Amino acid sequence: MSAEATVLQQAEPAGRPRLSVVIPCFNEEDCLGELCRRVTAACVDCVAQDYELVLVNDGSGDGTWAAIAELARQDARVVGVDLSRNHGHQLALTAGLTVCQGERVLIIDADLQDPPELVGAMMQAMDQEGADVVYGQRRERAGETAFKKASAALFYRVLRSMTDVDIPLDTGDFRLISRRALEALLAMPEQHRFVRGMVSWIGFHQTPLLYDRAERFSGVTKYPLSKMVRFALDAITGFSIRPLRLASYFGLLLAVPAFLLLVYTLYSWLAGHTVQGWTSLMVVVLFLGSAQMIVLGVFGEYVGRLYMEAKRRPLFVIRAIVGAARRGGASHAVPRLGVGPDSAG
Ligand code: UDP
Ligand code: MG
Repeated sequence: MSAEATVLQQAEPAGRPRLSVVIPCFNEEDCLGELCRRVTAACVDCVAQDYELVLVNDGSGDGTWAAIAELARQDARVVGVDLSRNHGHQLALTAGLTVCQGERVLIIDADLQDPPELVGAMMQAMDQEGADVVYGQRRERAGETAFKKASAALFYRVLRSMTDVDIPLDTGDFRLISRRALEALLAMPEQHRFVRGMVSWIGFHQTPLLYDRAERFSGVTKYPLSKMVRFALDAITGFSIRPLRLASYFGLLLAVPAFLLLVYTLYSWLAGHTVQGWTSLMVVVLFLGSAQMIVLGVFGEYVGRLYMEAKRRPLFVIRAIVGAARRGGASHAVPRLGVGPDSAG
């Protein structure tokens, strides 16, 4: 960014930019340069200079924050948000969403798997269809393992069958949302956030934009299996209480064999060969025992979440925000849902 452009920027009134781009970054040092270049070009193409780029450092262990701070220093349209530690993708994203100021907000990953150049088409779709949300829907995913593709496909289908909210298949967080949809999203205080589901829950007119997902620009996935499982559990428990009915289903299912066994037991007793039956006894004990454990586990998932929600903790803690002052946005520093840099000290 030239000095001239910076001066221009400072002279602008401190209203909302037309577009904010929010990007959570966890150990994405190597992606940042190219990311910033491509996102900036895409934004300039559709809203000229009227945009901001909010990069959230989610407690990275590499030079991600130094790189973000440097980008913010060079470019008045870059706002850097440094979280106090790794809070996880969905909370880092939420932190960025509370800080951003735009009329519309593009959510995108740092690894360039989702092409930022689509923002123009998304803005257009929003204008033409009067939509509040334009979400990217994947046609093809390049460079991902067969396991990741299959598990993702299965996950979205299971989730869909379990929830009452209409969460579209094969979508990530890559989407453009309007300010009023964002306000609705930020009004949801829950700790275990499955942002794409929460956006679907909001309603309004939401429309897909089909695209092919590319390979990661650099680095490796920040979603190992353990995080994927936790993410899936958050999604299911966050949007459905159907698993809690598992106990009833088991109960109903077992009623028939239990009745047959009762008949058999009584018959054996009358016939006088009651010592036999150790096998069937063990089978019943093991079967019931495991069914009970499963149901207990499911209850545990929900009770644990109730407990965490009951604490009402802030969702994230921001260590520092850089670059925001140049937009004249004092409100950048007062995030809802989290603890801002001023209060964090
Ligand atoms: N991410 C994050 N915090 C985390 C894990 C991931 O902010 O704890 C970010 C990451 O930098 C990326 C986005 O979330 O911008 C999605 O992660 P990734 O691309 O690794 O997930 P995948 O595409 O493999 O599902
Ligand atoms: Mg990715």
